[in-house]
Amino acid sequence: ASRPLVAGNWKMNGLKAAAAEFGRMVEGYGPEMRKKVELAVCPPATLLYTLSVMAIGSRIAVGGQDCAVAAAGAHTGDLSAEMLADAGAAYVIVGHSERRTDHGESDGLVRAKAQAVLRAGLTPIVCIGETEAERRNNETLAIVERQLAGSLPDGVGPEDLVVAYEPVWAIGTGLTPSSDDIAEVHAHITGRLFARFGEPGERIRILYGGSVKPANAKEILGIPHVSGALVGGASLKAADFLSIAAAY
Ligand code: 13P
Repeated sequence: ASRPLVAGNWKMNGLKAAAAEFGRMVEGYGPEMRKKVELAVCPPATLLYTLSVMAIGSRIAVGGQDCAVAAAGAHTGDLSAEMLADAGAAYVIVGHSERRTDHGESDGLVRAKAQAVLRAGLTPIVCIGETEAERRNNETLAIVERQLAGSLPDGVGPEDLVVAYEPVWAIGTGLTPSSDDIAEVHAHITGRLFARFGEPGERIRILYGGSVKPANAKEILGIPHVSGALVGGASLKAADFLSIAAAY
Protein backbone atom coordinates (compact mmCIF):
# COMPACT_ATOMS: atom_id res chain seq x y z
CA ALA A 1 0.00 0.00 0.00
CA SER A 2 1.12 3.58 -0.62
CA ARG A 3 2.42 5.70 2.19
CA PRO A 4 -0.02 8.22 3.60
CA LEU A 5 0.01 11.59 1.85
CA VAL A 6 0.17 14.99 3.52
CA ALA A 7 -0.55 17.58 0.84
CA GLY A 8 -0.40 21.34 1.27
CA ASN A 9 -2.82 23.57 -0.62
CA TRP A 10 -1.40 27.06 -0.65
CA LYS A 11 -4.53 28.42 -2.36
CA MET A 12 -3.99 32.01 -3.63
CA ASN A 13 -1.04 32.62 -1.32
CA GLY A 14 2.63 32.90 -2.10
CA LEU A 15 4.81 35.37 -3.98
CA LYS A 16 8.24 34.31 -5.08
CA ALA A 17 9.67 34.95 -1.62
CA ALA A 18 7.58 31.99 -0.43
CA ALA A 19 10.02 29.72 -2.24
CA ALA A 20 12.29 30.13 0.80
CA GLU A 21 9.59 28.55 2.97
CA PHE A 22 9.38 25.65 0.53
CA GLY A 23 13.17 25.35 0.77
CA ARG A 24 12.79 24.78 4.51
CA MET A 25 10.25 22.04 3.81
CA VAL A 26 12.68 20.36 1.42
CA GLU A 27 15.39 20.54 4.09
CA GLY A 28 13.16 19.21 6.83
CA TYR A 29 11.86 16.22 4.85
CA GLY A 30 14.56 13.80 5.91
CA PRO A 31 15.00 10.07 5.20
CA GLU A 32 13.09 8.97 8.31
CA MET A 33 10.04 11.06 7.46
CA ARG A 34 10.21 9.99 3.81
CA LYS A 35 9.82 6.35 4.81
CA LYS A 36 6.59 7.06 6.66
CA VAL A 37 4.80 9.76 4.74
CA GLU A 38 4.69 11.31 1.30
CA LEU A 39 4.62 15.12 1.12
CA ALA A 40 3.21 17.28 -1.64
CA VAL A 41 2.80 21.04 -1.98
CA CYS A 42 0.32 22.64 -4.36
CA PRO A 43 1.41 26.27 -4.75
CA PRO A 44 -0.18 28.86 -7.02
CA ALA A 45 0.65 27.97 -10.63
CA THR A 46 3.01 30.96 -10.87
CA LEU A 47 5.35 29.19 -8.41
CA LEU A 48 4.96 25.64 -9.66
CA TYR A 49 8.00 25.48 -11.89
CA THR A 50 10.25 27.21 -9.38
CA LEU A 51 9.26 24.82 -6.59
CA SER A 52 9.48 21.77 -8.82
CA VAL A 53 13.09 22.63 -9.62
CA MET A 54 13.82 23.17 -5.92
CA ALA A 55 12.18 19.82 -5.15
CA ILE A 56 14.48 17.80 -7.42
CA GLY A 57 16.07 15.11 -5.30
CA SER A 58 13.94 15.92 -2.25
CA ARG A 59 10.98 13.68 -3.10
CA ILE A 60 8.52 16.39 -2.11
CA ALA A 61 5.97 16.33 -4.90
CA VAL A 62 4.42 19.49 -6.25
CA GLY A 63 0.96 19.88 -7.71
CA GLY A 64 -1.60 22.20 -9.23
CA GLN A 65 -4.78 23.45 -7.57
CA ASP A 66 -7.06 23.16 -10.61
CA CYS A 67 -6.83 22.59 -14.36
CA ALA A 68 -8.81 23.03 -17.55
CA VAL A 69 -10.48 20.09 -19.28
CA ALA A 70 -8.85 20.66 -22.67
CA ALA A 71 -5.18 19.91 -23.33
CA ALA A 72 -4.56 23.15 -25.24
CA GLY A 73 -6.36 25.71 -27.35
CA ALA A 74 -8.41 28.89 -27.24
CA HIS A 75 -9.12 29.08 -23.50
CA THR A 76 -7.76 32.42 -22.29
CA GLY A 77 -6.53 32.32 -18.72
CA ASP A 78 -6.84 28.55 -18.32
CA LEU A 79 -4.05 26.08 -17.67
CA SER A 80 -4.14 22.50 -18.89
CA ALA A 81 -3.06 19.45 -16.94
CA GLU A 82 -0.38 18.95 -19.61
CA MET A 83 1.01 22.40 -18.76
CA LEU A 84 1.05 21.59 -15.06
CA ALA A 85 2.82 18.32 -15.85
CA ASP A 86 5.34 20.24 -17.96
CA ALA A 87 5.97 22.57 -15.00
CA GLY A 88 6.74 19.55 -12.79
CA ALA A 89 3.41 18.71 -11.15
CA ALA A 90 2.68 15.17 -9.99
CA TYR A 91 -0.75 15.93 -8.51
CA VAL A 92 -3.64 18.24 -9.34
CA ILE A 93 -6.38 19.14 -6.87
CA VAL A 94 -9.77 19.16 -8.59
CA GLY A 95 -13.19 20.05 -7.23
CA HIS A 96 -12.01 21.98 -4.20
CA SER A 97 -15.05 23.52 -2.48
CA GLU A 98 -13.68 27.00 -3.24
CA ARG A 99 -13.75 26.12 -6.96
CA ARG A 100 -17.20 24.58 -6.63
CA THR A 101 -18.47 27.73 -4.88
CA ASP A 102 -16.51 30.57 -6.52
CA HIS A 103 -16.60 29.12 -10.04
CA GLY A 104 -19.79 27.08 -9.97
CA GLU A 105 -18.01 23.80 -10.70
CA SER A 106 -20.39 20.84 -10.94
CA ASP A 107 -19.63 17.20 -10.23
CA GLY A 108 -19.62 16.57 -13.98
CA LEU A 109 -17.02 19.26 -14.59
CA VAL A 110 -14.90 17.98 -11.71
CA ARG A 111 -14.99 14.49 -13.23
CA ALA A 112 -13.93 15.88 -16.63
CA LYS A 113 -11.05 17.70 -14.94
CA ALA A 114 -10.01 14.55 -13.08
CA GLN A 115 -9.98 12.72 -16.40
CA ALA A 116 -7.84 15.49 -17.90
CA VAL A 117 -5.39 15.06 -15.03
CA LEU A 118 -5.17 11.32 -15.72
CA ARG A 119 -4.75 11.96 -19.45
CA ALA A 120 -1.70 14.11 -18.63
CA GLY A 121 -0.25 11.25 -16.56
CA LEU A 122 -0.81 12.98 -13.21
CA THR A 123 -2.79 12.01 -10.11
CA PRO A 124 -6.01 13.88 -9.33
CA ILE A 125 -6.86 14.76 -5.73
CA VAL A 126 -10.66 14.91 -5.96
CA CYS A 127 -12.30 16.98 -3.20
CA ILE A 128 -15.74 16.38 -1.76
CA GLY A 129 -17.49 17.51 1.42
CA GLU A 130 -20.76 18.76 2.85
CA THR A 131 -21.76 22.30 3.82
CA GLU A 132 -22.76 23.28 7.33
CA ALA A 133 -26.46 23.23 6.40
CA GLU A 134 -26.13 19.77 4.87
CA ARG A 135 -24.43 18.49 8.01
CA ARG A 136 -27.18 20.00 10.17
CA ASN A 137 -29.81 18.25 8.04
CA ASN A 138 -28.04 14.91 8.40
CA GLU A 139 -27.32 14.82 4.69
CA THR A 140 -23.55 14.38 4.97
CA LEU A 141 -23.31 10.77 3.83
CA ALA A 142 -25.80 11.28 1.01
CA ILE A 143 -23.97 14.38 -0.24
CA VAL A 144 -20.58 12.72 -0.10
CA GLU A 145 -21.98 9.70 -1.93
CA ARG A 146 -23.50 11.86 -4.66
CA GLN A 147 -20.30 13.87 -5.09
CA LEU A 148 -18.24 10.69 -5.31
CA ALA A 149 -20.58 9.16 -7.87
CA GLY A 150 -20.50 12.32 -9.99
CA SER A 151 -16.92 13.53 -9.60
CA LEU A 152 -14.72 10.45 -9.75
CA PRO A 153 -13.26 9.31 -13.04
CA ASP A 154 -13.84 5.73 -14.21
CA GLY A 155 -11.40 2.87 -14.49
CA VAL A 156 -8.69 4.13 -12.17
CA GLY A 157 -6.49 2.13 -9.83
CA PRO A 158 -5.52 2.95 -6.26
CA GLU A 159 -2.24 4.53 -7.34
CA ASP A 160 -3.94 6.85 -9.81
CA LEU A 161 -6.45 8.63 -7.61
CA VAL A 162 -6.64 10.40 -4.24
CA VAL A 163 -9.91 11.48 -2.60
CA ALA A 164 -10.00 14.37 -0.13
CA TYR A 165 -12.89 14.71 2.30
CA GLU A 166 -13.14 18.37 3.26
CA PRO A 167 -16.27 19.44 5.14
CA VAL A 168 -16.86 22.95 3.81
CA TRP A 169 -17.65 24.32 7.27
CA ALA A 170 -14.29 23.07 8.61
CA ILE A 171 -12.18 24.88 5.99
CA GLY A 172 -10.33 27.85 7.41
CA THR A 173 -12.60 28.03 10.44
CA GLY A 174 -10.64 26.21 13.12
CA LEU A 175 -13.62 23.86 13.45
CA THR A 176 -13.26 20.14 12.82
CA PRO A 177 -15.75 17.27 12.99
CA SER A 178 -15.38 14.91 15.92
CA SER A 179 -13.09 11.94 15.35
CA ASP A 180 -16.15 9.69 15.29
CA ASP A 181 -17.74 11.83 12.60
CA ILE A 182 -14.57 11.79 10.49
CA ALA A 183 -14.32 8.02 10.98
CA GLU A 184 -17.92 7.56 9.88
CA VAL A 185 -17.51 9.56 6.67
CA HIS A 186 -14.17 7.97 5.77
CA ALA A 187 -15.58 4.48 6.33
CA HIS A 188 -18.52 5.38 4.12
CA ILE A 189 -16.22 6.69 1.37
CA THR A 190 -14.13 3.51 1.60
CA GLY A 191 -17.30 1.47 1.14
CA ARG A 192 -18.31 3.47 -1.92
CA LEU A 193 -14.83 3.12 -3.44
CA PHE A 194 -15.02 -0.64 -2.90
CA ALA A 195 -18.44 -0.75 -4.53
CA ARG A 196 -17.20 1.25 -7.50
CA PHE A 197 -13.69 -0.09 -8.08
CA GLY A 198 -13.70 -3.44 -6.32
CA GLU A 199 -11.02 -4.55 -3.90
CA PRO A 200 -8.33 -2.17 -5.23
CA GLY A 201 -10.72 0.70 -4.45
CA GLU A 202 -10.11 0.10 -0.77
CA ARG A 203 -6.51 1.16 -1.26
CA ILE A 204 -7.36 4.56 -2.73
CA ARG A 205 -6.03 7.13 -0.27
CA ILE A 206 -8.65 9.29 1.43
CA LEU A 207 -7.28 12.52 2.89
CA TYR A 208 -9.07 14.57 5.51
CA GLY A 209 -8.99 18.35 5.06
CA GLY A 210 -10.32 21.27 7.10
CA SER A 211 -8.43 23.04 9.87
CA VAL A 212 -5.72 20.42 10.21
CA LYS A 213 -3.03 21.90 12.48
CA PRO A 214 0.01 20.56 14.33
CA ALA A 215 -2.15 20.38 17.48
CA ASN A 216 -4.81 18.06 16.03
CA ALA A 217 -2.76 16.19 13.42
CA LYS A 218 -1.96 13.16 15.54
CA GLU A 219 -5.55 12.53 16.47
CA ILE A 220 -6.95 13.10 12.96
CA LEU A 221 -4.26 11.14 11.12
CA GLY A 222 -4.80 8.21 13.48
CA ILE A 223 -8.47 7.78 12.56
CA PRO A 224 -9.27 4.58 10.63
CA HIS A 225 -9.50 5.08 6.83
CA VAL A 226 -7.79 8.47 7.07
CA SER A 227 -4.72 8.08 4.84
CA GLY A 228 -3.41 11.60 5.02
CA ALA A 229 -4.38 15.24 5.11
CA LEU A 230 -5.03 18.13 2.75
CA VAL A 231 -3.76 21.16 4.62
CA GLY A 232 -4.53 24.78 3.82
CA GLY A 233 -3.39 27.52 6.20
CA ALA A 234 -0.96 25.35 8.15
CA SER A 235 0.87 24.35 4.95
CA LEU A 236 2.18 27.86 4.39
CA LYS A 237 4.79 27.60 7.14
CA ALA A 238 7.44 24.88 6.93
CA ALA A 239 7.49 24.37 10.70
CA ASP A 240 3.73 23.73 10.86
CA PHE A 241 3.58 21.61 7.74
CA LEU A 242 6.50 19.41 8.82
CA SER A 243 5.07 19.09 12.30
CA ILE A 244 1.80 17.78 10.83
CA ALA A 245 3.74 15.25 8.73
CA ALA A 246 5.72 14.27 11.83
CA ALA A 247 2.50 12.96 13.37
CA TYR A 248 3.28 9.77 11.38
P1 13P B 1 -7.49 24.92 6.06
O1 13P B 1 -6.47 23.88 6.44
O2 13P B 1 -6.92 26.29 5.98
O3 13P B 1 -8.73 24.79 6.86
O4 13P B 1 -7.90 24.60 4.52
C1 13P B 1 -8.25 23.29 4.19
C2 13P B 1 -8.35 23.20 2.72
O5 13P B 1 -9.25 23.74 2.10
C3 13P B 1 -7.30 22.45 2.00
O6 13P B 1 -7.64 22.23 0.67
